[in-house]
Amino acid sequence: MLDKTFAVSISAEELEKEVKRVASEINRDYAGSQPVFLSVLNGSFIFAADLMREVELPCEISFVKLASYQGTNTTGNIREVIGLNIDITERPVIIVEDIVDTGLTMAHMLETLKRQNPSSIDICTLLLKPTKLQVKLDVRYCCKQIPDDFVVGYGLDYNGFGRNTKDVYTIIQDV
Ligand code: 5GP
Repeated sequence: MLDKTFAVSISAEELEKEVKRVASEINRDYAGSQPVFLSVLNGSFIFAADLMREVELPCEISFVKLASYQGTNTTGNIREVIGLNIDITERPVIIVEDIVDTGLTMAHMLETLKRQNPSSIDICTLLLKPTKLQVKLDVRYCCKQIPDDFVVGYGLDYNGFGRNTKDVYTIIQDV
């Protein structure tokens, strides 16, 4: 794709199995409550769609986007949560993310959302690169931990392309 070569690293079958496992954990842990799922666009749209159809709780879903702008703070790019059009005060929130890499995005999002006083916030990610984490982050739900390689597919992109595949691909050649 484009100038890179990719190979399948997580099959559609494995993704389906892991998404169902995580959904059943959420069904168990959130029994009796009405969580708000916050799907972080664009990368989590396919994961969120599959996950939601396995969730058997009364729940809502909203889609947010992170806008980057140059900050003066040491983390460099501060990202702002835009499009949150639902009142999360006193509600349990589950953030649905495509991939946690350094963890800076999720750490910043947690900080922003906490200002709106939700009753709880959990992170649910499709993928996690544990060796890249730069901040202490409690990722309660994770479909799969992966090595520090660039991945695309199943919602994740490379320069805008590759979101529309059923499998996840890992870069094997960087030229
Ligand atoms: P973090 O703040 O955790 O470093 O960055 C998370 C974001 O970086 C993800 O939401 C995703 O947009 C992007 N990202 C990190 N690793 C990858 C990767 O391997 N593939 C793709 N397509 N995006 C990635």
